[in-house]
Amino acid sequence: MIPYGKHHIDEDDIQAVVDVLRGDWLTQGPQVDMFEAAFKAYTGAEYAVAVSSATAGLHLAAMAAGLSAGDTLVTSPITFVATANAARYTGANVAFADIDSATLNMSPEALDKVLSQTPGAKMVVPVHFGGLPCDMEAISAVAKRHGCLVVEDAAHALGGTYADGNMVGEGGFSHMSVFSFHPVKAIAAGEGGMIATNDEALYRRLIRLRSHGMNKLDDPFLDLDLAFDSNERNPWYYEMQELGFNYRITDLQCALGTSQLAKLPDFVARRRALAARYDTRFAEFSHIKPAQPMARDRSGLHLYVARFDFHALCMTRREVMLHLRAQGITTQVHYIPVPAHPYYRAQGFDPQDYPASWGYYHECLSLPLFYDLTDDQQDHIVGVLKGLDG
Ligand SMILES: *Cc1c(COP(=O)(O)O)cnc(C)c1O
Repeated sequence: MIPYGKHHIDEDDIQAVVDVLRGDWLTQGPQVDMFEAAFKAYTGAEYAVAVSSATAGLHLAAMAAGLSAGDTLVTSPITFVATANAARYTGANVAFADIDSATLNMSPEALDKVLSQTPGAKMVVPVHFGGLPCDMEAISAVAKRHGCLVVEDAAHALGGTYADGNMVGEGGFSHMSVFSFHPVKAIAAGEGGMIATNDEALYRRLIRLRSHGMNKLDDPFLDLDLAFDSNERNPWYYEMQELGFNYRITDLQCALGTSQLAKLPDFVARRRALAARYDTRFAEFSHIKPAQPMARDRSGLHLYVARFDFHALCMTRREVMLHLRAQGITTQVHYIPVPAHPYYRAQGFDPQDYPASWGYYHECLSLPLFYDLTDDQQDHIVGVLKGLDG
């Protein structure tokens, strides 16, 4: 079976993890700092905080932004549920701004409208869907006008660049950016995430919240009586200054992450080459079209989504998926719009209120795209689809 996505691990990735196993640290040792440093160098961000997953990163970003009950986080309906859930973990509400049907990213116009109607809106989370960077200049201008912070869900977009040429995560348009190292994403750390920021105060808070809310770095102590004895710091003393979590990542994961990050340019180049091959072939198709053909050279290309006219193909999506599966090809739907999930419906959301997202959902299928996908495998996929397209 050809999966829709897959990680690529080399012998030197394995060796990097084995070296950690033979060393003195398993969790939170020097590899965490090294991974963060490599990530900063790659993206151009001033600070980076490695965490146990992007889900944890989004939660911490929402907390560091001060989100709480009564506030609202605005995101795209076309994302993984974790983006919206970050608000719910803090007690805040969620609102959705519909996508632009061409890019599949949050529409700045839709965002403007939602923010005008949502007085408690505090944080906007655009999602670089499929790896295609959002129009951050427009989104951050709208968010700023409405007094909102911007946190990029960059789980798909590691290796992508904005229209201004900077790497996603560089931080020129937002307060924080969150990345994922789940194996299906651009690089694998087993599980893992990173929060990039250029704001020192946010950075310091994220570092505390990652580890129980205990004082870190050179945070001043709050209880001076317990902290000091005759003006000397008590060597055992630490203090929990706010409610945090154990969202730490291990040295094992970070060693893998650093080793993988060095390969990211190759990974992205291969994804772009494969996307270009798909694009060329689909140009001859009538009822199956690439969903995000623009700015391929700036996209992290986490996904290759095709839009199907299932009606013209005289097949349902289920039939197409099963037909492809019988030919050894795995496909997936990204995503069921978040407001369609029973948990969000129970809060009063109706996915049909987001017509661009709802329309897209009924036409999409993500095709296999990963570093080790061969030209022959891709030709097989395109050939099977050509048989359907007629
Ligand atoms: C994968 C993903 C996440 C969550 O990442 P984890 O590291 O698995 O927690 C969040 N947002 C989007 C858009 C994702 O694709």
